[in-house]
Amino acid sequence: MNAMNTNVAPNPANFRNVLPTADAAGGRRWLYPRRVTGRFTRWRTVVAVVLLVALFVGPFVWVDGHPLFLFNVLERRFIFFGVPFWPQDFYLVAFGLIVFIVFISLFTVVFGRVWCGWACPQTIFMEMVFRKIEVWIEGDYTARQRLDTGPWTTEKVAKKSLKHGVFLLVSFAISNTFLAYIIGRDQWLTLITDNPAQHPVGLATMGLFTGVFYLVFARLREIVCTTICPYGRLQGVLLDKNSLIVAYDYIRGEPRGKLKKAELTLIPGTPPKGDCIDCKLCVQVCPTGIDIRNGTQLECINCTLCVDACDEVMDKINRPRGLIRIDSQQGIEQGKPFRFTARIRAYSGALVVLLGVMGFLLISRPVLDVTVLRAPGQLFQREAGGKVSNLYLIEVVNKTYRPIPVRFRLSRPDAKLSFVQPLTTVPAGELAKGIFFINLPEKTIRSTSTSLRIDVLVGDNVVEQIGTTFLGPVR
Ligand code: SF4
Ligand code: SF4
Repeated sequence: MNAMNTNVAPNPANFRNVLPTADAAGGRRWLYPRRVTGRFTRWRTVVAVVLLVALFVGPFVWVDGHPLFLFNVLERRFIFFGVPFWPQDFYLVAFGLIVFIVFISLFTVVFGRVWCGWACPQTIFMEMVFRKIEVWIEGDYTARQRLDTGPWTTEKVAKKSLKHGVFLLVSFAISNTFLAYIIGRDQWLTLITDNPAQHPVGLATMGLFTGVFYLVFARLREIVCTTICPYGRLQGVLLDKNSLIVAYDYIRGEPRGKLKKAELTLIPGTPPKGDCIDCKLCVQVCPTGIDIRNGTQLECINCTLCVDACDEVMDKINRPRGLIRIDSQQGIEQGKPFRFTARIRAYSGALVVLLGVMGFLLISRPVLDVTVLRAPGQLFQREAGGKVSNLYLIEVVNKTYRPIPVRFRLSRPDAKLSFVQPLTTVPAGELAKGIFFINLPEKTIRSTSTSLRIDVLVGDNVVEQIGTTFLGPVR
């Protein structure tokens, strides 16, 4: 650390007052990020490969004859990690969304935009798939720029055709994977192997998905992160001085300036100016086109490419790595290494509790969902033997993959429940409907509406208790 430079802030003259993706006239400024390697890039590649394999394999993994994942919004069938969910589980979805929002907020307050740079499908596909294809076909940043600004030669036509052809193929693969998540493996297989004339809607959806993915990764690109994604827009209110971010150590780096050859031979640790040699490598590698030396910006997706780029420069000029690093603003200002503070522990504890509550709700979710309603338009009937009866409709959803034998028991011993058609077993993953009467001796009825409880039993275990009312004559 250069003591001379303490508290020297970046020069505001270097700050931008336009979007990094817009030119002076407000048009699109196409970005040509430079390729970079380094330890963070290697780790990100490992994470991306694991996530991509999981994403592409996900819809085709079946366990015990059932898919591991299914998000069939059309037929309202959902399977998550092999557990089937029904529209009746909507309360879990609602609670899960609340947990998700709180989780994301707390996570961002502590760990910044780690999700964006390391796990978001947009970043992974853009930087780890489409960008790599582009670099492979068109070359690194200067070659791509030359190709785009140059005339339409045979080479340019060939490279552009090849690139966009491969882009379309990859978009088609992504589209098919998403479709397999939505309609399931078997329906998807039928869709691609059957006579196309039989599936105009399915094939049109496939084409539409392919077009959308192609548009996103071939044209929109970083605009999704910097302008469209609402999570990115929230960074301003979620981050604080203690949040972990990709940050430039301006205390160590400023005043920046070109390093003359002679300065490389000076005694290490006593440079005549800040450690930043203004090589702009960190700017050239940035996929959202920003200069991280201007401080935290909402376009920064925490991809750590600038960290790797700057570390490479620091290695070359014999300065310690970490001029750009993952740290908090507080850590940069005070020059202290990152520590797990009480605040971070408290936030992390809250995250674990939230996940625990969600996990408990999922595990303790009842295997049956029972709805009982009195038959509409019916009051009560008097029957022989001084009895009064009410007619009820029942629906039982079996949320498991095995048939479940069921019994029903009333809370009052003098009441009798009898089904019109016996309902003794609910088939696996299905909804069973039934009609039943409840009889009560008229002399025991004390009011026009009597509360009753119906116990639903599987074996000897009461798995659900349903409250209902019984209508009787006025006494
Ligand atoms: S890569 Fe490092 S040394 Fe080069 S301009 Fe960026 S911060 Fe300065
Ligand atoms: S500033 Fe650095 S971490 Fe942020 S998006 Fe650019 S390269 Fe990635």
